[in-house]
Amino acid sequence: SSIPKIVILGAGYGGILTAQRLQKELNYNEADVTLVNRHDYHYITTHLHMPAAGTDSIEHARVPISKLIDEFKIDLVKSAVKDIRPHEKKVILEDGTLSYDVLVIGLGGEPETFGIPGMREHALTIRSINSVRLIREHIEYQFACYKNDSKASRMNFVVGGAGFSGVEFVSELADRLPRLCKEFDVDPGVVHLYNVEAAPTALPGFDKELVEYAMKVLKNKGVSLRIGVPIKECLPEGVIIGDGEHIEASTVVWTGGIRGNRLVEQAGFEVTRGRVAVDEYLRAPGFDNIFIIGDSSLIMSAEGRPYPPTAQMAMQQGVNCAKNISLLIRGKSLEKFRFNHKGTVASLGKGEAIAVVNGKKWKGWKAAQLKKAVDIRYLYKIGGIPLVIQKGRFF
Ligand code: FAD
Repeated sequence: SSIPKIVILGAGYGGILTAQRLQKELNYNEADVTLVNRHDYHYITTHLHMPAAGTDSIEHARVPISKLIDEFKIDLVKSAVKDIRPHEKKVILEDGTLSYDVLVIGLGGEPETFGIPGMREHALTIRSINSVRLIREHIEYQFACYKNDSKASRMNFVVGGAGFSGVEFVSELADRLPRLCKEFDVDPGVVHLYNVEAAPTALPGFDKELVEYAMKVLKNKGVSLRIGVPIKECLPEGVIIGDGEHIEASTVVWTGGIRGNRLVEQAGFEVTRGRVAVDEYLRAPGFDNIFIIGDSSLIMSAEGRPYPPTAQMAMQQGVNCAKNISLLIRGKSLEKFRFNHKGTVASLGKGEAIAVVNGKKWKGWKAAQLKKAVDIRYLYKIGGIPLVIQKGRFF
């Protein structure tokens, strides 16, 4: 047929926003839209540190995609992408092939281990519902084992990386560990939680005063901070840090870096740490019909520094991308993407957070309320009031 085929890969923050906006903007029979995702649910990645630590349920962090899109307008394909072939205009799935006229790549990122020996093999990572289940069950299992074998390393927990997700996760875990001690009759004195960061400061790029506040909160929760100390190697039982100190630990969670999805590099696009420097319309260089959004794309700020990959960025890209696809198939000129940085909020466990919004700083309980507001706003944006009622956390 002459109807253009639009294929969206990934139903994360970027992909869902693209699909929802296209559904609104396109007229009946103006295009065929297909959304491909590995799972039949969308996960709220910015929540994953909570179910990972066990302070919230997994069901609060995922939503069936069928609730978010109109399946009369968009075909949902539950499958894993195996290969993207830009020159053939084809995508190879684990169980079939799709051809497209316009492609959107929103496959998210994956952990970057910077070649640290053993990290890929031995550390756990927070990246999906399945990986989060593993972390949660692994931690509980260590408590159960400890009551049987008294192995000290079972009660040592290492979080590698003190960027946003590292700090958010370590805060939640610090809240959870005392509760696990009670549940499993373990003396809290034998439990140690370490947060190791190679950079000279935690939360690089964040306001200095707020970083200091965050560090104080973490210390009060009993976290041992090792800032400016690189992890040299990850072992089956712990890590080697700095100049050779061995922290014996049965649990190592790596949050130290994100790179683009390897499928993007495999497709032959030019990448930096797996991410493609897209043009001002979010297209892959040399391809008028391929948009790359979210954690696999690279956008430079006016100061010439790459923006960190965030949900906020992916969502705004999704909106612009949908707009540009409708302009493209109508033969009109595209609109440039401009990132509007609204602010940053990082949670520090129950009732604690830090935030910079419109240049104003917040900390403590007020910042924690802001975090909730941001979360609820997202649920409202993608699923309206019903989703807010179903998945929102108000307390
Ligand atoms: P994702 O949201 O990761 O979605 C990618 C989708 O593609 C997923 O549905 C996945 O299943 C699917 N997929 C992947 N590979 C395949 C494949 N081969 N085949 C089929 N489907 C596939 N950002 C913020 O702005 N604020 C925060 O507070 C914040 N907190 C965070 C906390 C944690 C613990 C983490 C890990 C991240 C946080 N982020 C935060 C970052 C944010 O989550 C990401 O930047 C954002 O999710 C990127 O969106 P995306 O659309 O690129 O990819």
